[in-house]
Amino acid sequence: MQFEGNISSKFPKLGTTIFTVMSAMAREHDAINLSQGFPEFQPDSRLLQAFESALRSGNHQYAPMAGWLPLREAIAAKTEKLYGQNVDPETEVTITAGGTQAIFTAIAAVIHEGDEVIVFAPAYDCYAPAIELVGGRPVFYNLSAPDFKIEWEKVKKLISSKTKLIIINSPHNPTAKVFTASDLEALEHIVKGTNIMLLSDEVYEHITYDNKPHQSVLSRKLLAERSFVVSSFGKTYHCTGWKVGYVIAPQNLMQEFRKVHQYNVFSVSTPAQVAFAEIIKEEDMYLSLSSFYEVKRNYFRDALKASRFGLLECEGTYFQLASYDQISDAKDVEFAKWLTVDKRVASIPISVFYSHIPDSRVIRFCFAKEEETLKRAAEWLSKI
Ligand code: GLN
Repeated sequence: MQFEGNISSKFPKLGTTIFTVMSAMAREHDAINLSQGFPEFQPDSRLLQAFESALRSGNHQYAPMAGWLPLREAIAAKTEKLYGQNVDPETEVTITAGGTQAIFTAIAAVIHEGDEVIVFAPAYDCYAPAIELVGGRPVFYNLSAPDFKIEWEKVKKLISSKTKLIIINSPHNPTAKVFTASDLEALEHIVKGTNIMLLSDEVYEHITYDNKPHQSVLSRKLLAERSFVVSSFGKTYHCTGWKVGYVIAPQNLMQEFRKVHQYNVFSVSTPAQVAFAEIIKEEDMYLSLSSFYEVKRNYFRDALKASRFGLLECEGTYFQLASYDQISDAKDVEFAKWLTVDKRVASIPISVFYSHIPDSRVIRFCFAKEEETLKRAAEWLSKI
């Protein structure tokens, strides 16, 4: 079928997200899929049981718009315990259809035509389109491989009278960098006394390595009071397909958030929320996640030692960046395609997370996979 009228595209230059493109290419060429980030393993049987019993005990109708209250209460209790921040489950927590919807909704709720949003690139690919769709302008601070260091004094220079929001993401996708306490201190200095809000994407909050603690903006009152903090059950409980996450924000920001949320999703899967309300209390499930993935990170890095890939530091998330300087001069999109089709290992080229093409030749591998999968991938990659 074809629409014969004129379509004035909102995104004339935008194609399909790289995650969909690479996963499809991996399937087509029977490649090992280390591209799109999703775990290969089953959720904990306690979660499956909780979901099953939620289904069997009749939780099939709409959940409340802001989310199942016992789940919001459990999130508030967890937030207090982990980050020392008292949040009101009634007014300051909303359950969302995953991290991406939370991010979109927060942006749509506060960004007006002409507002500027500071975004650190490489940036997760949903930030800029959401800003542009509502008439805002992303202002990029470009970070460079291999260390992707933020010089906060330079960030300050990007601020103008139009700056409404700064988006931060730690642990960071795709660089695998984790904020230190001094990053948050510097950020505090920048926003103190301004009207600038923060959107803190913390979906990998439970995946940090080498005893590096996650630095949540929720652990600092001055930051928490101006932030939308986004988290995701998919990343923490190996169930990205359930599409459940949440956002925490001060009540006056949350009020604006819910005005948008109520008309773009209204509410989220009831049985999943009932299950998470139980499971979130089982602390071991999230407290053991870092060590679970640290074993995989170490295994994958060791297995690639003999290869010609250069491994960048990995401080958190389940992503490993690798430079292929020693292998090819090709641009990363081309290289990632070649790797999928000819070498049958799919990855993500990191230039798609920038608004310009960076000089570095770096791709991203997802290591949230069984050891056997990582072993095979590393063997194939080491032959190149
Ligand atoms: N967050 C996942 C990643 O970075 C992708 C999620 C998606 O495909 N939308 O790979």
